[in-house]
Amino acid sequence: MNLFELVQTAPPDPILGLSEAFKNDPNPDKINLTVGVYQDESGKSPLLESVRRAEEILARGAGSKGYLPINGHPDYLGHCQALVFGEGNEMILTKRLASVHTPGGTGGLRLAGDFIRRSLGQRTIWVSNPTWANHQGIFTAAGLDIKTYPYYNPETHGLNLEGMITVLETIPENDIVLLHACCHNPTGVDPTEEDWETIAKVCKERKLLPLLDFAYQGFSKGWIDDAVAIRAFSEYGLEFIVCSSFSKNFGLYQDRVGAMHVVAKNADEAARILSQLKVIVRTNYSNPPAHGSAIVSTILNDTELRQLWEEELKTMRSRINTVRSEFVDGLEKAGVPGDFSFIREQKGMFSFSGLSEESVQKLRQDHAIYIVKSGRINVAGINDKNRDTLCRAIAQCI
Ligand code: PMP
Repeated sequence: MNLFELVQTAPPDPILGLSEAFKNDPNPDKINLTVGVYQDESGKSPLLESVRRAEEILARGAGSKGYLPINGHPDYLGHCQALVFGEGNEMILTKRLASVHTPGGTGGLRLAGDFIRRSLGQRTIWVSNPTWANHQGIFTAAGLDIKTYPYYNPETHGLNLEGMITVLETIPENDIVLLHACCHNPTGVDPTEEDWETIAKVCKERKLLPLLDFAYQGFSKGWIDDAVAIRAFSEYGLEFIVCSSFSKNFGLYQDRVGAMHVVAKNADEAARILSQLKVIVRTNYSNPPAHGSAIVSTILNDTELRQLWEEELKTMRSRINTVRSEFVDGLEKAGVPGDFSFIREQKGMFSFSGLSEESVQKLRQDHAIYIVKSGRINVAGINDKNRDTLCRAIAQCI
């Protein structure tokens, strides 16, 4: 028998599978609100002008396709550290960060999972209920057990801080707690600055290891303000891990560019941790892809390009907020019963719309409107052309 005959078909990815179905849908008025990619008013995921200009500079340069160091280019890593922790931060100056350029946020999360299992010997990671579906897959693949803590309160459409803290207080010492640093996926509900203080305090008291997933820096209030969780954990003197991504804030989805940082107690500890991270990278993909990181470095090294990037990031963020507001107005105008004003308060691209699984199914069958079954909507997929159709369809399906 041929060995390959034994291979069973794996289930499609719950979100990317829907995009495939959308692509094959012949309805000319179809709307895709599933996948987590920013779209502009014309429905396109734009190439940022700052990125285009950086690519031009790179194309004109001498260039080289030689390997990068295992943990990435030092210039790029310096920029990553400054964006996440703040320029000139004590952690950077005292060299107590072990930083690695990773292939996107996903690559960073998997590296973190492997490090936790192999180097720390820990088994259990606690994730919010709900969380990004791929967290389950990534940490299971890394050999960790996954447990959940409460996060979302469907009645208030807000954070269930009390439920969250109650469970965090029972978690065994040294377990890992995954937190979304901003723009929680899928709910769009973030802790306030005060809530982050409370969460950091519990992590410190219970000796938990926080892992901050920072995939949307700049999509909530701005790239500095969005690092509020990082500052809270730093101020409490915690050791923690951050996985950041440039997929969204630079629009570099396909270039697979991000970073993973371990905040250690001192430079010696950080050096030992980095040596272990390098072994994991070397035996996994050897070294990171260079193009995306070269774009990020080129932009951040150039005052004019950096300013342009900050403006473009602001444009994306502002559009998301405008779309949220117009969507709420549209639902009201279409006569959809209920108060949807909470959608205005949510942060980032995602909104837990409150639509039931049944409504989601009807929207797809009757109107070719694609939403993931939890009711999570990528609001960036809404524009002036499809908003009224969407709101009218929701009025019919709810
Ligand atoms: N974390 C979260 C919460 C996300 O939503 C995403 C992207 N959808 C990622 C991490 C990973 O992003 P990427 O690998 O594309 O950088």
